[in-house]
Formats: sequence, C-alpha cells, structure tokens
Amino acid sequence: VSLRGGTRTVVVGGGCSGTLLAIELASRMSGGVGEVIVVDPAAMPGRGVAYGTSCPSHLLNVRAGQMSAHLDRPGHFAAWIEDRVPGTSARSFAPRMLYGMYLEDAWLEARANAPDGISLTHVRAAARAVHPATRGDAMGVDLDDGTTLEADQVVLAMGNLSLAIPHRRAGIAASSRYVVDPWQAEALDAITGDVLLIGTGLTAIDVAFALEDRGHGGTITALSRHGLLPRAHRRDGAAFAPQDSGVPAERTIRSLTARLRRVTADREDWRDAVDEMRPHVAQLWRELPDVERRRFLRHVSRYWEVHRHRLPPSAANRVAALAATGYLSVRAGAVEAHRDTAHGVEVCIRHRGQDSGRTERLEFAHVINCTGPPLAVALAGDPLLDQLLATGQVLPGPYGLGLDVDADGAILDRNGAPSRTLWAIGPLRRGAEWETTAVREIRAQAVALAGRLSGRVTNTHRVSDHQVGVMIDPPRAVSDYRWRGSPSATSS
Ligand SMILES: Cc1cc2nc3c(=O)[nH]c(=O)nc-3n(C[C@H](O)[C@H](O)[C@H](O)COP(=O)(O)OP(=O)(O)OC[C@H]3O[C@@H](n4cnc5c(N)ncnc54)[C@H](O)[C@@H]3O)c2cc1C
Repeated sequence: VSLRGGTRTVVVGGGCSGTLLAIELASRMSGGVGEVIVVDPAAMPGRGVAYGTSCPSHLLNVRAGQMSAHLDRPGHFAAWIEDRVPGTSARSFAPRMLYGMYLEDAWLEARANAPDGISLTHVRAAARAVHPATRGDAMGVDLDDGTTLEADQVVLAMGNLSLAIPHRRAGIAASSRYVVDPWQAEALDAITGDVLLIGTGLTAIDVAFALEDRGHGGTITALSRHGLLPRAHRRDGAAFAPQDSGVPAERTIRSLTARLRRVTADREDWRDAVDEMRPHVAQLWRELPDVERRRFLRHVSRYWEVHRHRLPPSAANRVAALAATGYLSVRAGAVEAHRDTAHGVEVCIRHRGQDSGRTERLEFAHVINCTGPPLAVALAGDPLLDQLLATGQVLPGPYGLGLDVDADGAILDRNGAPSRTLWAIGPLRRGAEWETTAVREIRAQAVALAGRLSGRVTNTHRVSDHQVGVMIDPPRAVSDYRWRGSPSATSS
C-alpha cells in the first residue's frame, strides 16, 4: 500500500506506547495533512500486554489519579472510571482490564476528533520487516498478511517482548511442565496441583491471584534469587508532595544510595524518597559512568525495582493472607536441576539467604515462568527485531537492553548518528533510559516524540480518503465498554 501524499507515520505496536503516541501525533498534525497508521494484531489499539488481562484481580499498581493518558488532562482517567464504577475515585487502584478499555476509548475519541486532513487508522497485522528508504524518503513495512506499507517514518512500539522464546528452552525451561508465557489468554486454564513460579515480582503475584481466583487446587511456591516481593503503596493514600531539589549531583551508585537513605530519614515515608528520585532516573542513567551502571545492574536494580514498582495495599494484604495460610510461599534460591516425572517435575532448589547452600527436592505439577518480559533484544527471538538487527538498521541498547536510541528515541547507527526515519518508544528504550516502562514515562515520551515527528508533516498535499487495504477497526459505541464487574475489585 503506497503513499498518497502527506506524511505517513507507521507505528509498529498498538499497546499503551503506540496508542498514546498515535493519539498525540494525530492531534498535533492540525494544519497539515498526514496519516498515522498503527499496526497491531489486536482487534483494536490500546491494551497491549499489560492491559489485555481479563482477570479483575489484576489491578493497576498506580492510583487512578496518576494514570491519565493525556499529560495535559491529569484527572482524565479518574473521571472516566468514576463515571463507570460507583465508589471509585482518583485514589483507587483500578483493574487493569478497565484501563485497557479506557485506552481503547482514548483511541476511538482521537480517531473521531482527528483534525481535518489527518487520518488515524489501525491495520490489524504484525510487522515482519522494515526496509530502509530506497526511493526518495519512503520506507517499507512488510506485514504478515503479505502486504507492504510505505512510510515516511516508522516508530517501533513493540513494548513488552513475547516470552515465547524457543531457543531459550534450557534448564528448567526445557521441562514439558514449563509454562513459558503466563500472559497468553489460556495459559493457566489447565494448571492444577502444586505449582512453582520462577520469579517473585509483579508477574508472579498476577499469576498467584489468577490461580487462586480459578481455585486451582494446589499450593504455590515462588522462587527467585533474592526472594524479594514488591513493596506496598502507602495505605493512607496520602497525596505525594515531591520536594524536588532537582537532578541529584551524585554520579556513583554508592553516593546515590547514601542520598536515598538521607532523604528517607528526612521524609515521613520512604516512598517519598523513591518517588522524588524517579523523575531524574533517565537523566542519571544516561550520565552515570559505565562502571556505575554495571554496579547498579549487578547489586541494586532488584532492590530499586521492588521499592519503585509497588503493590496496591489490597494486593499486598492478599499476598500476606495467602502466605499466612500456606497457600503461597516465597523462597530465595535457584533451580539447580530438574527431572520430569510421571505426574509433574521434580525440582532441586538450592536455597540462598537464611538457608544458604541447603538443597531441597520438591515435586510440582507445573512450573510457570514469571520472570517478566525479556529485555535483551538480541535474545528475544522477535522476528521483526531479528530482521532489524540482522540488516544493521538497529543496534542493541547499552548492556543489550532495548535498542540504542538518543534522548528523543531516534534509533542510533553504528557511529552514534540519530536516524531521521526510525524511532522507538516505551520499553524498547530500557538500556538508554532505564525508567521507561510505566505510563507516566510513556506518556511524556509520546508527547515529546509527537512534537518531533509532527514537525515533518507536509502542508501541500491532501491525503485522499483511502482504505489501507487491510483490516481497519470499525467504530464502536463507548457504551459497549461499560464494565459490569464488581466495583469491590477496585480498592484504594
Ligand atoms: C503486567 C504489567 C502490569 C503493568 N502495570 C502497570 C501499572 O499499573 N501502571 C503503570 O504505569 N505501568 C504498568 N505497567 C507498565 C506499562 O504500562 C506497560 O509496560 C506498557 O503498557 C507498555 O506498553 P507498550 O505498548 O510499550 O508495550 P505492550 O503492552 O507490550 O504492547 C506492545 C504491542 O505491540 C504489539 N506488537 C509486538 N510486535 C509487533 C509487530 N511485529 N507488529 C505489530 N505489532 C506488534 C503487541 O502485540 C502489543 O500489542 C505494567 C506492565 C506490565 C507488563
């Protein structure tokens, strides 16, 4: 499908990142002509992995008041949910599936309100290859349905890469009882009996809640090297009033950790110290010397992550209750060996921490991968990323995390020169920014990147109305999305 005038931006991936970028971009293109096309296999852009869950126990880990899709309309999501679920407020931790509906509504609203001359469309497909410009400035995006979209600029928004990686099936992952991707719609349907979760973070807690909801009829053991569970948000829901004293001057992990301790001692709550540091993390990460970034990855990142990505108080209470009944136990250690048996898999666990060095053999019916999305692009086995890497159009980011991009998300070439046509947003900026996965950061990236990209809109030609040839989502009434679940699933 070829260009018909104006500027065409193809956004690969219609999760939260791609959707927010497309919405921002279309709204800024007023006065020009152009097209924004989101390519994603889903029925509609918006949900992606995080908000595609259908489990009401999966809550946002951020209060509704901070989850607006729009930087300039801070209470937008809170108002949306208050209208739909009685008893909710800006302090509520809403079910993630509702946030997915909200993002879909934001997409529909943006499409309906697209400025004159601007089209915002969804092509229901997966991108398999991107070809650099061969004629003029036009790039080609090959889709899995055999068509090719021409584009002036392409934004990679593939987000949380798939966990289904065949060539990583070594160790416990080679067991026939191993569930690679618990986010797949039916992944947990056949799970019964005692279960081992590899990982003790937010994914493990999601899986534990989903299994308990289903009455899976066994126990859950969650195992990770440090056995660290995410900490909880403040129970009182007190508004966070940052005392922002600017970007910290420290440039070593030791001095930054000392600063965090100092600030914690000064504040009413340790969470304030973490939240005050957070807006500066991307800049700190970019400016820390290599040796310090490595030190962070090796010694500090796990501790930072469990304090930074916190659980809603109701979820933390539920974890504590599951642990108290013996249904859920959390261990620090590693799988040393495994052997498939007639009824499951026997796992040899080497303990760390209190029981350091002790080994234990336990039998489980299933083992579930809860390590979260793969961050190392070269190992992810993603067909599009593999093609982009093999053709030298992208390079892995620092430490193999995400892609190598500049501060605006422009893909960098081998000489460090930013591309004018290929960009990345969201989790793919992990190596360059570290703090790049939550809605707060994605929303800010979307605004900044839309500003850059909209500067390239042509003002001369008008795009003729056209179908992009592939499936374009039909308009749906907002009332279709009214959530009829129990409001009690929402907590504050
Ligand atoms: C379980 C979970 C819970 C979270 N909870 C919160 C929270 O409460 N609050 C918060 O602020 N943040 C939260 N986050 C973080 C953050 O909001 C998400 O990581 C964010 O949604 C990332 O969006 P994304 O669009 O970049 O990626 P994704 O959600 O992974 O979406 C990427 C999309 O790209 C598509 N795609 C991939 N490859 C291709 C291709 N080749 N062609 C076409 N399409 C493709 C995928 O199908 C998918 O739809 C959570 C993250 C996770 C994983």
